Amino acid sequence: MDLSKKIREVQDFPKEGINFKDITTLLQDKDAFQYMVNKLAQELEDLEIDIVVGPESRGFLVGAPVAYKIGAGFVPVRKPGKLPHETMRYEYQLEYGSDVLEIHKDAIQPGQKVAILDDLLATGGTVLATAKLIEALGGEVVSINFLIELAFLKGRDVLKSYHVKTLVSYD
Ligand code: IMP
Repeated sequence: MDLSKKIREVQDFPKEGINFKDITTLLQDKDAFQYMVNKLAQELEDLEIDIVVGPESRGFLVGAPVAYKIGAGFVPVRKPGKLPHETMRYEYQLEYGSDVLEIHKDAIQPGQKVAILDDLLATGGTVLATAKLIEALGGEVVSINFLIELAFLKGRDVLKSYHVKTLVSYD
């Protein structure tokens, strides 16, 4: 199945000049959704993943079903103030300003094998911050998997020390 045909492109959202990749059209299609989950799960076969981590919020939609499929646990990484228990935080730089992500301190045990899943790789900042949080807790990031890659933003360069795979790439 060509998943790129299931992803809607919305011009000038959320602001002018951005060609937004809308995955709601893929998720609402039962065959495409199942195909995406199976494909992502296939890429993680044989890696003995203990935990799938998904960054807020579309990482939940992609990560949780894949975790279920491969028999791993799921851990959310969230924007500040959303997780109720003790958290570890990581601040990272954006083009203008900075952003913070948090994870529960007891979410990952030292030595656990972790895969990060998200909908889209743009600059790589979100997932790099997520990897830093996992490593700070002693987890091993063995794979990073996306549905979509915006290849022209060169997010792979930022993630070059990791194993990165994507299903659909835009040049
Ligand atoms: P990065 O940190 O620059 O790699 O941005 C990736 C994050 O931005 C992901 O969590 C995406 O959900 C979100 N994002 C950026 N552009 C798009 C888009 O076109 N469609 C959907 N999500 C996007």
